[in-house]
Amino acid sequence: MNNQEIDLLVKDILAQSAQTSKQTSSDPICGARFEDINAAVAAAKQAFGELNTGPMSVRQKIVSTLRKVLADDIPELAERAWRETGMGNVADKIQKNTIALFNTPGTEDLATTAMTGDGGMTLFEYSPYGVIGAIAPSTNPTETIINNAIGMIAAGNAVVFSAHPGAKEVSTWLINKVEQAIYDCCGIRNLVVSVAKPSFDATKAMMTHADVPLLVVTGGPGIVNMAMKTGKKVIGAGAGNPPVIVDETADINKASQDIIRGASFDFNLPCIAEKAVVVVESVASQLLNAFASHGACWVKDKADIDRLRQVAIGENSEANKALVGQSPSTILEAAGVQFNGTPKLVVVAVEANDPLMMVEQLMPLLPVATAVNFEQALQIALKVEGGNLHTAVMHSKNIDHLNRAARAMRTSIFVKNAPSYAGIGAGDEGFTTFTIATPTGEGTTSARSFARLRRCVLSEAFNIR
Ligand code: NAD
Repeated sequence: MNNQEIDLLVKDILAQSAQTSKQTSSDPICGARFEDINAAVAAAKQAFGELNTGPMSVRQKIVSTLRKVLADDIPELAERAWRETGMGNVADKIQKNTIALFNTPGTEDLATTAMTGDGGMTLFEYSPYGVIGAIAPSTNPTETIINNAIGMIAAGNAVVFSAHPGAKEVSTWLINKVEQAIYDCCGIRNLVVSVAKPSFDATKAMMTHADVPLLVVTGGPGIVNMAMKTGKKVIGAGAGNPPVIVDETADINKASQDIIRGASFDFNLPCIAEKAVVVVESVASQLLNAFASHGACWVKDKADIDRLRQVAIGENSEANKALVGQSPSTILEAAGVQFNGTPKLVVVAVEANDPLMMVEQLMPLLPVATAVNFEQALQIALKVEGGNLHTAVMHSKNIDHLNRAARAMRTSIFVKNAPSYAGIGAGDEGFTTFTIATPTGEGTTSARSFARLRRCVLSEAFNIR
């Protein structure tokens, strides 16, 4: 048994005895129980010091413990998030939390590279920043906390979370669980913390705190821009408006089902979800009919479409917050539109420059515009995407079209012939992330995004070629 293993064993024993004494004394100030941000950052800084002097195996143990401990809590997490935010639906939130927990990469993401030669050896290694300030949205509150906690700790950091005020109960409940699980498995207290009462003021104080060198912001453009003004290193995961292009070569039946799946997932809350369709006119009515035959409500009456537009988009040209993440039935009822059954999605045919195409609505109301050909569809899709460089989707069997669109859109995620959520590792190849850094360019973030690449040189040795 080496010294590090002995140290770990001792820490385990100390943690267990602290646990026993804790049962007879009052709760320690830890996890999401801090009154003010300074105390939370100070505690996280101390925790970072402890993690940073330990071996990588501690980080691996933390990640595997979180996967084990939180697995049973996922249904409750989904239920609590849905009740508190009033957005999305429990079944899809279970899926989102499951992929966050089991498909977020851990320490294996931090691949070391080496160069050797007559001069010796140079290593490039991913090293931690220290205490990361992470801001989570209301649309994926617990998914983002799970996903960020795993990636950030795997990279060797401690995290101060700024939970969304609209999801503070479920977020602080989760942060306490995560913190306790980490303490129980390795004896390090406060690797993941937050204030007990998340607020915009606490978020602002965290952003400017001297001991927080990196801000990771998952939210709308307002909060990302605010973080960028602090002068700190920022990983900004901002808004998107993902368009879907459907050309004349697509398997229309499959495309319609994939689009319904993606656009209705958690009632369209994910930033990557399909927000607008541009279809080549020769297959437009085929696609709209296929939507209707696969469970979408295709609203055709012009007055009904006008009313849907009016309730979905406010006078400020932003989505009506009261309808964000609501069910198709709720949206139809709000607009006074007659419908049958329980539609999976609301679909409307509109002009390419309709506000419904241009505004990020975050609700299962999908506008569909037509284009004369693929070239025009691509130009419309570029306008709809709005330069966010976030996500785009395309359904086609024409490889030239797919290549051209993938290059021209320049989005962080480009999904071909699948629902948008294939781009975050749901049901298809690839790891999961809930922080897609668009304005700052890291794209689909993982542990290595939360690490500094450092170079270590050994002169005239360790070249064995
Ligand atoms: P939001 O912008 O309302 O909130 C995000 C976070 O910022 C919250 O924690 C909130 O407390 C904080 N915040 C907001 N305004 C603040 C202010 N003035 N001062 C201090 N803190 C402030 O975001 P939301 O409505 O919960 O999420 C939806 C938005 O986030 C959408 O635009 C969506 O596209 C985007 N989003 C992007 C990603 C991505 O990975 N790129 C992921 C999820 C959500």
